[in-house]
Amino acid sequence: MNGLLAGKNVLVMGVANDRSIAWAIAQSLAAQGARLAFTYENERVEERVRKLAETIPGSLFLQCNVTVDEEIESLAVQLKESFGVLHGLVHSIAFAKTEELDGMFVDTSRAGFALAHDISAYSLAAVAQRVYPLMTEGGSIMTMTYLGAERALRNYNVMGVAKAALEASVRYLAADLGPHNIRVNAVSAGPIRTLAAKGIKDFNSILRQVEEKSPLRKTTEAAEVGDTAMFLLSHLSRGITGEIIYVDNGYNIVGV
Ligand code: NAD
Repeated sequence: MNGLLAGKNVLVMGVANDRSIAWAIAQSLAAQGARLAFTYENERVEERVRKLAETIPGSLFLQCNVTVDEEIESLAVQLKESFGVLHGLVHSIAFAKTEELDGMFVDTSRAGFALAHDISAYSLAAVAQRVYPLMTEGGSIMTMTYLGAERALRNYNVMGVAKAALEASVRYLAADLGPHNIRVNAVSAGPIRTLAAKGIKDFNSILRQVEEKSPLRKTTEAAEVGDTAMFLLSHLSRGITGEIIYVDNGYNIVGV
């Protein structure tokens, strides 16, 4: 099927480089005819993200650090001016200090806990709050989570707790926004080698374990996540909201 997202305007947040899951999602969306707006976090990644965005004709390119309310507000204003109507939001953003992703969760600092939750969980509500009024024709919001939200995974620590908050936020946002015909879901992806994954200690051994134990005996590819995100943003998933969908080659179902 082609053109599933023709005439749809989608905001994609979380591209840092060509390995970013958000970039794989953007490619799946563009292949189905979506018009995209990309945000970049700061000047450090601006050039890299701009070059990627320019490969998708007609896309917008805007700055937004999700810890700054004024930047989210200005993003919503710019989207209204350029798109008028928004149909989708891809939230593919997370952050925790490196020192929190090593050792024991019990050692998490107050500041590290707050920062991880602010960027990785609250930002979904903060952005949804400002952009849902633009979804006047209905819409679909999706975010990225990980198995560490439900299981105590070594070294994932505070990020697992933040992902649990993110998954609960998905359900509350789905309940709030459903009457506006806006759906909210998350993809729980298997481990993928990206910039964010670099911060997690022993990532290579996690990948090896998934390859050995997942039912499909392979690690997750970003393009697999991209295509599921595309499904979630399309009318094909119109009966699904408040869900966590696993794209992990089945790893989450396996016992010890
Ligand atoms: P990535 O490093 O490419 O993407 C993370 C993005 O978060 C970057 O674009 C970064 O700029 C952005 N970001 C961080 N702080 C921000 C801020 N204050 N304001 C705006 N943007 C900010 O890594 P990724 O693996 O593509 O991560 C994307 C999402 O997927 C994250 O939520 C991550 O937790 C999730 N995820 C990743 C994996 C994996 O194994 N890579 C698995 C499951 C879920």
